[in-house]
Amino acid sequence: MAVDVRAAAGEVGRILAELDLSAVWAVDPGAGREGPADLVIRDGTIESVTWLEGADADGIEPNGVVVAPGFIDLHVHLREPGNEDAETVASGLAAAAHGGFTTVCTMPNTDPALDEPGVLALVRAAAAASGSPVELLAYGAVTAGRKGEQLAALGELGDAGVVGFSDDGAPVRSATILRNALAYAGSAGLPVVDHAEDASATDGAEANDGFVATVLGLRGWPASAEASAVARDLAILADVVRDVPGAHLHLTHLSTARALDLVRGAKAAGLPVTCDVTPHHLAFTDEWLAGARRWAWDGSGDPWGDNAIEAQPFDPSLRVNPPLRSVEDAGAVLAALLDGTADAVATDHAPHTEVDKAVEFGYAANGISGIETALGLLLAAVDAGRLPLARAIAALTSGPRAVLGSRSRRERPGLTEGAAADLVVFDRSDRWTVGADGLLSRGKNSPVLGRTLSGRVLLTVAGGRIAYEAAEG
Ligand SMILES: [Zn+2]
Repeated sequence: MAVDVRAAAGEVGRILAELDLSAVWAVDPGAGREGPADLVIRDGTIESVTWLEGADADGIEPNGVVVAPGFIDLHVHLREPGNEDAETVASGLAAAAHGGFTTVCTMPNTDPALDEPGVLALVRAAAAASGSPVELLAYGAVTAGRKGEQLAALGELGDAGVVGFSDDGAPVRSATILRNALAYAGSAGLPVVDHAEDASATDGAEANDGFVATVLGLRGWPASAEASAVARDLAILADVVRDVPGAHLHLTHLSTARALDLVRGAKAAGLPVTCDVTPHHLAFTDEWLAGARRWAWDGSGDPWGDNAIEAQPFDPSLRVNPPLRSVEDAGAVLAALLDGTADAVATDHAPHTEVDKAVEFGYAANGISGIETALGLLLAAVDAGRLPLARAIAALTSGPRAVLGSRSRRERPGLTEGAAADLVVFDRSDRWTVGADGLLSRGKNSPVLGRTLSGRVLLTVAGGRIAYEAAEG
């Protein structure tokens, strides 16, 4: 291997004293640059970045060792306080670093919900106690107890340092509450992050409404439930922004062509809306529920007709909200990533215990433990020629950074000389097999257990400190 990171690294939390990355492929979306480079890191600071040209650059390919800014995840669930059997802040941050992430934004659907500054303090204390240098940012709840009835103390939460507001796990059902939340949050320069779902259309729903659900006998979850919620949210945003120019709506885990088209149109019209998509809605489809295991871009919608069944049907690890969609919708997710309609990839990392997942498909808890496999899923699209490497990296770095604005501690994101090293080193030629034991998350609920992915993470450095290093380098 060209880069021996093990010699340079050390235990988690230590300052990265010394690392020379020679003849690697560097990707720096913030600077709009990628190519062969040498990086020198001393005492946690990027001392030099030298872009190589001519003979020096010969033979350095983008399919080998890659260095990129540390990834930012706009959507994770860390389960503490309240469900530490599924995940703790410490295990979640370790998993994040294993996935190449140096900043994560955790959702407030803990128990108790993060709807007042005391819970935020608890989560922050757990992050500090973990010793992980991964930056933990948190959303506050939109409504008290996430019950959807009255606004939480948005002002107090904003003063305490939340990076936005969300009732994720559930949509903000009341139009009046969403309107007020967008106005208050917007005045404070913070986004409202909505999980767009018309719950009146998804009661009892199990799988994306379509051919696969029909054949499997699962109750359909219509794509229109997402599109109608997005349309409502955008209409409310258009009202609010007239009085509150700082209003900002962020739609998370969009999964359907129609919803993404609405966002595309709203952006063209100048509305302050951003959105993210997940790796699983990009790479998987509802065909997987039938037992197919081909990537979304290889699917047809009829896995039986194609003799594409490789696994047992009804794997509960595939139950997720919103559900895995059709081949066409997954294609729309990819298209939205390519044309910038989707600002970011966010994992919706949702660890669950075995007990909550090892039940009949329709009863399984929603979610995938996905932060450690996100890079591998995106690289599958890159390897297939569907997604440029630089765009994949941008969707994990500069894209989410733009959504967060200045609320990350990092003043100068990117591979910037003089800045604290905040980066990930991975090897696209190094394939690794996803195993329950290898996942640092307590949640082993992954549909790609046993599957081989490319791009093993060798080293993650957050704020100049070691966050993760591969056991054998
Ligand atoms: Zn959600």
